[in-house]
This record gives sequence, structure tokens and C-alpha cells, in this order.
Amino acid sequence: MPREIADMVVTEHGVARPLEKNVRQRAEELTSVEHPDFRGESRSGAQKQFYTWLAGRLAGGDVANKALVFSGNPLVRADGPHGNAGVITASEDDPRGRYLLLRDLEVLVTSEGETRLLWLSRTQISSDGGETILLGFEEGVPHLAISSWSEDSAAAGVTGSPRATYMDARIVAPLLPEAEAAVVAQARSMADWHQRTRFCARCGGGTTSVEGGGRRQCDVCGERHYPRVDPSIIVLVEHDGQALLVGRNGGTEGRRSCVAGFVETGESVEEAVVREVLEETGVAVGDVEYSYSQPWPFPAVLMLGCRARARSTEIRVDGVEIGTAGWYTRMQVRAALEGVSDELVVPPALAIAHHLMRDWALESE
Ligand SMILES: [Zn+2]
Repeated sequence: MPREIADMVVTEHGVARPLEKNVRQRAEELTSVEHPDFRGESRSGAQKQFYTWLAGRLAGGDVANKALVFSGNPLVRADGPHGNAGVITASEDDPRGRYLLLRDLEVLVTSEGETRLLWLSRTQISSDGGETILLGFEEGVPHLAISSWSEDSAAAGVTGSPRATYMDARIVAPLLPEAEAAVVAQARSMADWHQRTRFCARCGGGTTSVEGGGRRQCDVCGERHYPRVDPSIIVLVEHDGQALLVGRNGGTEGRRSCVAGFVETGESVEEAVVREVLEETGVAVGDVEYSYSQPWPFPAVLMLGCRARARSTEIRVDGVEIGTAGWYTRMQVRAALEGVSDELVVPPALAIAHHLMRDWALESE
């Protein structure tokens, strides 16, 4: 891999610095079929695909998954190339291991200078208490989380006193580099799942963490329990240059977002979109298209961002979950995204709803 491409990968996956304009231009050049680098035999199809993917990431486009907060985890998962049982077991004894502490689902960060995750060595951790979870590997080095609870007297803490503080994932995520926020999403969802899965749903027996915390097993009946992910749709519904936005019942005055809801059992993503929009607003929709997704670790949601077209426009809110809904023009939504609207407040860039709205609002009529 050419050095400059490697540098771009590091920028994208490792350090997540703001991208320089010349890096963007270079990525665009590399994806051009006219570019000399693409002539001749030296570029394989896989490389072209890679450059196209990379340019999409760099440009914030949707060639691959959009670079949303909580996505872009750089760790190689334990069930990836490193993931045999021996390696997983050995990872907890690996002296190179790097540990991230969670307390009551809050994550330990440095409080000196810029906000970053505080990765510790095993010798810097004060107790054997807490649940150890193998998150994955970076260049072969295991990265693990230790999750404990403040009421636990053996809760893991830090020896010595590096300047550190526990922070809520939702608050700290926008302050962290993209790659670190994504690790927080994984660690928080896993820590929450372990806490909720201490007993077997089948027989009520106690469960034990196995395979580096990748699953739990019942001590009585042997049932295997796997971490859950809860798919949820979120949809920008459009009609004739207007978007359908909703306000939660009892929510802040003027706050609007996209229709969202969990996918139910035995339901496709498209069916969930049609049902949720109809239930919440009375509007019939079709032409459902998937856009991009975002892990949302509260506790383990996968937000599936979609677009749909309205087939009716009359609004009837349920008055329970949704207090109000309306049709808004691109101008109105743009003003809200820029924070200069008197009437509308929209979700921050942390949320996928912000990006669905932005993509639509910046399109030409
Ligand atoms: Zn059981």
C-alpha cells in the first residue's frame, strides 16, 4: 500500500484528525478512472473498490457507511482473524493488554488537555473486581474493558492518581476522536448486556461470562446467551419539497426530529418504516430506501437510517408518544441545522437524524 494511502487510513481509523483539503483532493483523484494510477495492470479491482470506499468516507458520502459518531471502531473483533479460543483466553494474561474502565456504564477518560480514553495496563488497575470484556485487537495487542458498579466494594479502580474522570457516553462521545467514540459504543453496550444477563432467561440459573466476555453460559442448563442488538428505523419522509418531522409529547417547544421506532418481530425494515410513520403521524408512505446506519449504545440499538416518500399528507398524531408533527421546507430545515431558526430545533450532529435531515435539506429541489 503506498505510503500516502496508509497515512489516509491512519487519519481515518486511528487518529481521526480533521481532514486536510489536499487529502480529500488526493482521494478524489485516486478514485478517478482517468487518473494515471488506475491505468495499466498494477491496480486490482479490490484496490479500486478500496479507493472508492475511502473517498466516500473522506468526503462524508454514502459509498460506505457514513462516518457517524459511534461508528468507525478500529479494533479487530475477537471473532475475527485473531479469534481462536486460545488467543481469547491468553488475552487476559497478555502483559501488553490495554484496559478501559467503566463504572456504572460511564467510561474513564483523561481529564488533562484534550479528552481521550484512558487506556491502562493491568498493573495500573487496583482490583480484580468487575466484568472483563475483550473488545478486540489493535496490531495484535488485546484491548479490554472492565465494567464495575459503584455499589461493588471490589470495583476496579486506578492505582496511583492519573488525572481521570468517568463520563457518560452521550456526553463524552462528541469530544472524542471518532475511533474512540466507537470503542465506547461497543464497551458500553457490552457492559450493559453483561449486567442484564446475570441470570438465564430459560431456567433462571446464574450465568458465567465465557470467550472473553463474547457470550454468557448458564451454569445450570448450559444455555448460551449472546449479546443483543436492537434494530430501530429512523426515516426522513418527504413530499413535494417538504419533510415530515415530529415532536415528542412533552418535549421541548419547537424540537422536531424524524419518525423513529423499533423494528418488531417478524417485520422487515421497510415494513417497520411504513408502520411507524402511519402509527405516529397517520401519513401513508412508500418507496422506502435504506441510507446508512449508526450504532446507538443506549443500550444496544442499531439505528437504520431510511428515506421514504409520502403517499398521503394529512397528519393525525397519536397524542401519546408524538405530540405534534408537521411538514417543513428545505429552507426551514436548513435554518434549524445552522441554529438560526426561530421556530425549529433539530437534533445535534451526534444523532443520525441530523444527517438524514442535512442530506435532504442540502439537495436541490
Ligand atoms: Zn439456564
